[in-house]
Formats: sequence, C-alpha cells, structure tokens
Amino acid sequence: MTESGLTGLWYDKPKKWELVELPVYKPDDDEIVIRVTATGICGSDLHVTRGDGRDKNSPERGPLAMGHEMTGIVHSMGKKVKTDSLKKPLKEGDRVIFPFFFPCMSCYNCIKGEFGACKYRSRIPYQDFKYCNSGFSQYYVLRSPHFIFHSPKSLNDESLVSLNCALAQVVEAFNFGKVNFGDNVVIQGAGALGIYATAVARSMGANEVIVIDGHDSRLKLAEKCGASKTINISEIQSSDERIEYIYDYTNGIGADIVIELVGFPAVVEEGLKMVRMRGKYLEIGSIAPNSFINVDTNFLVSNQIRMMNFQHYDPWILPKCADFLERTKSEYPLTSLVSHKFKLEDINEAFQKSDWLGEHADKSITRAVILP
Ligand SMILES: [Zn+2]
Ligand SMILES: [Zn+2]
Repeated sequence: MTESGLTGLWYDKPKKWELVELPVYKPDDDEIVIRVTATGICGSDLHVTRGDGRDKNSPERGPLAMGHEMTGIVHSMGKKVKTDSLKKPLKEGDRVIFPFFFPCMSCYNCIKGEFGACKYRSRIPYQDFKYCNSGFSQYYVLRSPHFIFHSPKSLNDESLVSLNCALAQVVEAFNFGKVNFGDNVVIQGAGALGIYATAVARSMGANEVIVIDGHDSRLKLAEKCGASKTINISEIQSSDERIEYIYDYTNGIGADIVIELVGFPAVVEEGLKMVRMRGKYLEIGSIAPNSFINVDTNFLVSNQIRMMNFQHYDPWILPKCADFLERTKSEYPLTSLVSHKFKLEDINEAFQKSDWLGEHADKSITRAVILP
C-alpha cells in the first residue's frame, strides 16, 4: 500500500486552505524525504494568501502548496545519501534543517557559488508533482542536489522554523550589507525578521539599533533582543517626523544602515530618507508584485545611497544561524518567538489569526507555527 500524508492546498477562489491526502514520494538514490514537524507562517505566506499586488482581473492561481519555514526529521533517503552537507553521518529519524530551495549547481550563478541566485532553484509546483510536498504538509521532498544539516540538539523544532527564512534572510542581507562596528542601524518592522535583524545587528557590533513598528508588544520584544530605541508609528505618526527623529537621534548624521522588513512602498520611501550620505539601504520586505515606489533617483545619487535587495540565502548560512541561536539563547528570547501553535487541520484559523491586516487578527501572535 502506498504511504500517504496530509497536504494543505490554498485555493484563490474560496480564499481558503483545503487538506488533501497525497502519496508520500519514494526518494531516488540522491534524494531525501523529510517528515515535517513544524512550519512557521511567514509574512510572505500571508502576502500570498491575502493576494497583495493582485486585483480582480488577476488570474486564479493554484491550488498552491506553500510553506517554507520548516524543520523536520529524515523520513526516508536514497541509498547514496550517507551524510549531511557537513559530512556528518545521516540516518532516518535524524532531526534536520535544510534550505527549502534547490540550486542546480551547474548554471552561471551556481558555479560562482551564488546558490541563492540560481534561477532553477524553485520547488516544482503542485500541479507538476502531486505528492505530499510542502511546508504546510506532512512531508517535504529534498530533490537532488540539495543541502541538509543536523539540527542543534539543544534547540527544539519550534525555535528552529524561522531559521529557514526569517533569520537566514537577515543574515544574508547583513553579510552583504556589512554592519560595521559602531554603525547606527534602523530596522523597519518588528515582525520575526525585524526581531532577528535587531539581535544580529547588535551581535555584529552596532551602536544604536532603532526599531520602528506599530505594535507595542513587538517593540517590547525588540527591546529584549537588543534594540536601543523603539519608535511606535502610532505615536510618531508622520513620516517626516520619524525621519527627523532618526536624524536627531544620530546627531544629524542619519543611519549607517536601514533594513526594510515590512513590504509596503511607503515604508521604503521613508526608510531611504533615513540613510546617511553613502549609507546603505537593505531591502527585503517587498515580496508582493506591483510594489512601486516613488523616489527621486537624483536624491539617491546626490546622497550616494547604496541600495541592495535580497531574496533567498546561501546554504552555509543555515548552520551559522543555528550556532547563533544556540550561542545567544540565554541573551535574547529568540528561541521563544513562537507564540501560537496550530494543528494542520486548523490551518485556516492559523492564517486568519496571523494576518495582522485581516479582521480576525490576533494581535498577541508574534509567530505562529503549524505542527503537521
Ligand atoms: Zn543553478
Ligand atoms: Zn519566509
């Protein structure tokens, strides 16, 4: 009898998830099938289900199998797989972390070592691969070539989910954008990415770490994770005043680095004006299509703003993030960011409550995970 597992599929028309039973894939010699144990609901998942950037004329998508902030155990593996990507022996039942995408290893970007920029790295959509295979399902297939690492023993699965996206993404950005000793850093947005960015900037030697958000609970958490100053946008309501505040707070200099983790065009327009002359603007948040900004490029040139944009990360970052979480676990509450857990059966409720823009939003959620 073929093994099967539950998969959540997103349907655009009724705007909801449905659970279906799908076969579990049998791995080829080089492949691994993961039994997913925990998957975080990422802001990007909410952008997709909310339909940000789409209108009534946009064609119906999917159904979509989604979810990428996941961790799990090795369920089954091909006979050629003997070790993880750091040559440690690997066997069925081992707890593991892994990038959710698959660099081809034989394109121009891959041979340059830029695995996060491989054009062929995406997972195969559900329509072309009808197996139980996503974050919001019970199994995930690591097709070959792939990367995989042992999970740190001292951290539970819930504290590891956001490593596979949120934490890895900000580390990728700061690795390129380089936080230098004594830099003043502004973090736009205190969701999970913003909280991680706060702790990482602090650990990389930042002087001031100023975090901007609209929720007090998130800003409180940012303070516990290394923020030296927080700005609640409901208290300083105008964009001009917030920009002025950053200049005042940095002795008229502006921020050495601003990192954007919200994903709305107005936030980008505001953040660019907070950067000091020849400072850096690191853009991550704008993951929804049609996010147009209205910026005078002469302002960017005359202020020599270095703007860099990020999506995906290189695989070496995952084990480094695991080390970081272990090293800082008594310093910052990064391993307890998950506030709510849901069963896969309750995925619709989980998404409704997590969507901070929706009518059923539960504002006490910092990060929700599905335990499939
Ligand atoms: Zn490639
Ligand atoms: Zn994500």
